[in-house]
Order: sequence, then C-alpha cells, then structure tokens
Amino acid sequence: MPEPVERRPLRIMETPRPVPAAGELLIRVNACGVCRTDLHVVEGELPQRLMPIIPGHQIVGVIEAAGAEAAGFPARQRVGVAWLHSTCGNCRFCLSGRENLCETAEFTGWTHNGGFAEYVTAPADFIYPIPDGFDDIQAAPLLCAGIIGYRALRLTDLNAWKGARLGIYGFGAAGHVSIQIARARGADVYVATRDRQKHQALAEELGAVWVGDTFAEPPVKLDAAIIFAPAGEIVPAALKALDKGGKLVLGGIHMSPIPEFAYDLVYGERVIRSVANNTREDGREFLAEAAAIPIKTSVRTFPLEAANDALIALKNDAIKGAGVLKIS
Ligand SMILES: [Zn+2]
Ligand SMILES: [Zn+2]
Repeated sequence: MPEPVERRPLRIMETPRPVPAAGELLIRVNACGVCRTDLHVVEGELPQRLMPIIPGHQIVGVIEAAGAEAAGFPARQRVGVAWLHSTCGNCRFCLSGRENLCETAEFTGWTHNGGFAEYVTAPADFIYPIPDGFDDIQAAPLLCAGIIGYRALRLTDLNAWKGARLGIYGFGAAGHVSIQIARARGADVYVATRDRQKHQALAEELGAVWVGDTFAEPPVKLDAAIIFAPAGEIVPAALKALDKGGKLVLGGIHMSPIPEFAYDLVYGERVIRSVANNTREDGREFLAEAAAIPIKTSVRTFPLEAANDALIALKNDAIKGAGVLKIS
C-alpha cells in the first residue's frame, strides 16, 4: 500500500532473479537514481499499478543475459534504463513520433519493477548505451532528471539560445542538469528556488545570472520558463515573469492544484504546457549532448538499504543535486 515515506514503506526482500522475456535483457544494477516520481509512486500520488513494486527508473548497470530475440548485445555492456519501459508501437501517438504519449506505455518502477534492486529486466529496444565519460553514479541522474530536463528545454521552443532568458523554478536533480545544457547553448538562466544553502548555492555555482526565492520576481522578462517543483502555486508567479509569447513548461508528472489567476497573466500569447515522459530519441540526443558538454552531475549517494532515507531526504529538499542509490 502507498504510505508516507516517513513510515519507511520500502522493505529489503529476497525475490527471485527476474528472467528476461523474449526481446528483453537482464541487467545487473550498479546504481539507480532517486526521482520525485519514485516518491509519487511510493506515497500514492500516482495511482497504484503494480503492488508490491520495486521503484527506480534511472538505472545504470551491465547486461548479464539476454532473452530470446534480444541477442546481439555484448554481455557486460554498460547500459541505462529510463522511465519509458516500453510502448505499443501501434497507437496514433506511437505512429506519429510521439511515443511518449503512447496509450498503453509501460513505465519502469511503476508498472514494471525498477532499479532499487540488484537485477532488472528491460526491453532491448528501450535501453541506452552510457557514454564512457560518466561513471555509474554520475550517469544515473541523467536517465530521468536529465532526459526530462532536456525534453522540457525542447518544449520551450527557444530556437535562438544565445542570450535567451530562461527561468528555472525548483532546482533539484532536473534543474541542475538543465542549467548546464542551457548555458552550454548560450542562454542566460534565472533560477527561482527555495533553500539558500543547497539549491540556490548550486544554481550560483553552475552559473545562473540571477538566483532568488521561489516567488521572487526575476529582474528581466523571461523568454521561457520551466517549473520543476511540484507546486501549482508557482504557475501564476512564473507567468508573471514571462515575456509576451513566452512558453511556460511544467516538468513534473504530478503537481498540486494551480490556483486561479487573472487572464492578463496568460494573455499576450503566453503558453503553458506540460512534459509527459520522453521519447527514446530525447534520451539518445540528450546523452550525446550531455557527453559533449560534458555535464557534471552533483550527487549524494545512499546504499540500497537506505532507500527510505534517500526518499525522505528528497521529500525534505535535503539533497544538493541528485540522490543516487549505489547498489554494486
Ligand atoms: Zn503506442
Ligand atoms: Zn523520474
């Protein structure tokens, strides 16, 4: 049953090693990132899909075995598994390049057991080779925080990045990766977030031109903004900071209700849109760009046995950058 993480709902258990089905790979997990979506799964903000569930969808490991029809992957190859576990390939979304919106998609760590474990299975078509420049721990947060951040940047529809003014609201795992991409592309980044010691300090270290509290107004109008914090009350504040024609992208899978606001805030052809999941193309393009920059993730590691503590720390905004479970 979903429960608040303070009650430590995750338990260490011995379970049979999963067997890869046709088209799947068995992966030995080395590291798994901790994401706010794991918190939503464990605490029940997302509907229950599989119980008991092993959460975790930012998995870095090595291929241990292959099921039928998945041969051809070198054993021991280092790979990543992300949130999008599989898609149908046949629905109107899959057939129009929008597999992130697939009607019957499966999700790692929600509808299929994830990476807070020693072993996981995943379809061979949905894994990502990990670029050599990243070690396992560094790479883990790239697989959701990074990919979703990348898609959020894409959905801002900014074309001329040089000198563009981008706002980031909430500065955890996704924010700290996104700012590095945006800055490498030449944007000026304005970060509004709570926590002077951790999140605001990290934003400054990573080159934000302005850092303020969540509801502080940036000194210039923004061309686009992304909200990574799951708090709907930020939406009107971010709209207020947005220039005419600007896009406001909501990066979370869950957000508290958005309060009513005056039409003025969205008038001027401002656009609000959400990000839902990612396509495999997002993942591949992001990992290539992340390796070229190269992105440096700031991580705090926890042993697998401390998965509850990692989720509690995430819930309390106590992690600077991203939390990662070190598994082997
Ligand atoms: Zn589909
Ligand atoms: Zn995630």
